[in-house]
Amino acid sequence: MRKKIVAGNWKMNKTLDEATALVSEVVNMVKDEVTGDVQVVLCPPAIYLTTVRQYLSGDGRVALGAQNCHEKASGAYTGEVSAPMLQSIGVQYVILGHSERRQYFRETNAQLAEKVNQALANGLTPIFCCGESLEQREAEIHQVFVRTQLTESLFHLSPEQFARIVIAYEPIWAIGTGLTASTGQAQEMHDLLRRHIAEKYGEEAAQSTSILYGGSCNEKNAPELFACPDVDGGLIGGASLKSREFTNIVKARQ
Ligand code: 13P
Repeated sequence: MRKKIVAGNWKMNKTLDEATALVSEVVNMVKDEVTGDVQVVLCPPAIYLTTVRQYLSGDGRVALGAQNCHEKASGAYTGEVSAPMLQSIGVQYVILGHSERRQYFRETNAQLAEKVNQALANGLTPIFCCGESLEQREAEIHQVFVRTQLTESLFHLSPEQFARIVIAYEPIWAIGTGLTASTGQAQEMHDLLRRHIAEKYGEEAAQSTSILYGGSCNEKNAPELFACPDVDGGLIGGASLKSREFTNIVKARQ
């Protein structure tokens, strides 16, 4: 059985007070309302990670994730945060290769391969993002594009290392736009990614890799997206900033 995961990517949102209110609400709602075996992950801005961690219950139902890490372990990289630092404060997951980081911070597939290595070397579970732009989809190169993202950033890993990777398929045209991939589009791409993994690491590895969907996922569309056989959960942006809606999405996955 693949791990079901619903992760909230808070992006660059919330003040400290708002962040602590949100995490305590989510933790309480999950404790009271979620009975299934879904893993919840909260990914606040790096500056709040230590504080947010203090609000998490000790049972691990809500885990802590970062939104990025640097590809080097330490050094003269002003303003950056490394994987060993994240590990040292109890972070378990790290989002890598989000399209916003690829677009605004010019992250490349090769650089992301190094970030993945850093994350794994420091006991973090990468949530590796891939996804195409609207132009790429219209030009019908989206399948080749996302396959290449995986090949160039992940396929150097050993089977043991790859087993620790979580994938998030996030079509750029669906992020923050209110345009969600249809269930047909999501399922097609998740299946494509799983086939691609199977070609490299074998069917068993492909069947045990969690592939999350992200892009305007909300409490209304989550049930149908999560009903797709190859959609194992969600990476939620805007809707993760509201405790009620986020918990409802978690409940749709349990
Ligand atoms: P939205 O849910 O706001 O579209 O963002 C998705 C996303 O980018 C999560 O990483």
